Amino acid sequence: MGVQHVDHLVDHLVDHLVDHLVVGAGFAGLCAAIKLQEDGERDFLVVEKGSDVGGTWRDNTYPGAACDVPSQLYSFSFAPNPEWSMSYSPQPEIQAYLRRVAERSGTLDRFELDTSFDDAAWDDATARWIVQVTGPAGRRTIGARTLIVGAGGLSEPRLPDIEGIETFQGPLFHSARWDHTVDLAGKRVAVIGTGASAIQIVPELQRTLAATGGHLDVYQRTAPWVIPRNDRRYGALERQALRRVPALGRLYRTGIYWAHEAYVPAFTIEPRIALPARKAAEANIRKGIGDPTLRAKVTPHFAIGCKRILRSNTYYPALAADNTELVTDPVAKVTGDAIVTADGVERPVDVLVVATGFWTTELPVTEHISGPAGRSLADVWREGGMAAYKGTTVPGFPNLFMIVGPNTGQGHTSMVFIIEAQVAYIRDAIRTLRERGWAAVEPRAGAFRRWNADLQRRMKRTVWTRGGCRSWYLDEHGHNTTLWPKATFTFRRRLARFDADAYDVRQEMTA
Ligand code: NAP
Repeated sequence: MGVQHVDHLVDHLVDHLVDHLVVGAGFAGLCAAIKLQEDGERDFLVVEKGSDVGGTWRDNTYPGAACDVPSQLYSFSFAPNPEWSMSYSPQPEIQAYLRRVAERSGTLDRFELDTSFDDAAWDDATARWIVQVTGPAGRRTIGARTLIVGAGGLSEPRLPDIEGIETFQGPLFHSARWDHTVDLAGKRVAVIGTGASAIQIVPELQRTLAATGGHLDVYQRTAPWVIPRNDRRYGALERQALRRVPALGRLYRTGIYWAHEAYVPAFTIEPRIALPARKAAEANIRKGIGDPTLRAKVTPHFAIGCKRILRSNTYYPALAADNTELVTDPVAKVTGDAIVTADGVERPVDVLVVATGFWTTELPVTEHISGPAGRSLADVWREGGMAAYKGTTVPGFPNLFMIVGPNTGQGHTSMVFIIEAQVAYIRDAIRTLRERGWAAVEPRAGAFRRWNADLQRRMKRTVWTRGGCRSWYLDEHGHNTTLWPKATFTFRRRLARFDADAYDVRQEMTA
């Protein structure tokens, strides 16, 4: 059976045949598209369920949304931006940056927006992924040699499972699905959650509500560690210098990279190294809050770094404000117009915001990806735990490449660095497939096992597992399947080259 013959065969199965299908148009999907094009790979499509590029930066429009990693680093290395207004950019600037990068890249004609990725199944006979998508023109079937999933690790909102929440009569929305049509003036607003999203939302809400006679209740289950955010505005002169001397931007980027990388040993080797960060967080509490009872309530009882370290100068003052109450009694139930805590107190609520995080250790997209054996990736991971080889490929799933896959996450630095490293690896894999005329690759069970055994061995000494907290980094068995437990430059080095010898290869079909 020749290659032409296979294409003919697959033609019967699909409406559209491409070499590569990319899922998602956030940082990951966009990076993949730009780099594929750079390599002369013209035959690819990007499907994106939203109506714009941007991923998490398109979806998270809540008041106060900003990145807590400095933008000089939280941007593509190949698309520097001298125009950032602040060291920690607000969401609209990041979203505008991504749109601009997409437009300038000349890849947008390959993007299908408002198009959901419904399902992908590997077809062994033709060595193709057969993918169902639904777009403005209806449902279509696409055949693709490789499936590159950049659907995001923090994209599916996790709603809290609280008794009676479905009976709430007022507006209720997740932080990542902010309803801007709701007028908050003078209202009683409740925020459930005190994670990275909530600590950005709370100061904004507190200010709006204080100005309009409204009230804010913040429901805290676990107090987070919050260090100051040393934000600053870039002046006109500095921006001009960054525009004129690109090396200056690279210097900033390098400095920020190493300053963040210096945190790694505190997470992965010895939590006590983080003592200065803990002191800074304690000082942040003392500075923001005068009342000793409130100070005690917001002081965490776990090692700093066990959960993501948050950054804010305004969170504690907002909690201490007259129109805010921090509620630490557990939420017992939600009624039509109130929240009732375990101590029996009922607090009326007009608008309920749930800043309760995302599905992280059970990625919903994996329910819709099935390998040759017909089992979904979600089923495979339910049995053996979420794991991949180099965070990117999975045994039993030929030519599937995940960006921001298992154990690639970062608590301290830019995910864009990781995304670029993964895309470099995927490009090299695609180049290798082409050069050697291979139809498909999938990682060998041994390589996969060794990679993950090493990760989990290292996890045992990290602050994430022994720091005395429960976080979204861990799965239900307490395994950390989300974070990378070493320096990020090590990750990049391990993915610098596609290591074909760690893969089972299927030769291209020949007559
Ligand atoms: P998160 O960190 O998972 O925080 C969720 C919060 O909701 C936690 O305080 C959690 O309490 C609470 N919660 C969850 N279910 C609850 C329930 N049933 N009842 C009461 N409380 C409940 O989610 P997130 O704040 O959206 O942040 C997620 C991640 O997104 C971050 O870690 C970060 O990686 C990323 N992020 C980044 C930025 C940025 O600036 N770069 C901004 C926002 C988000 P427990 O702590 O007790 O579980």
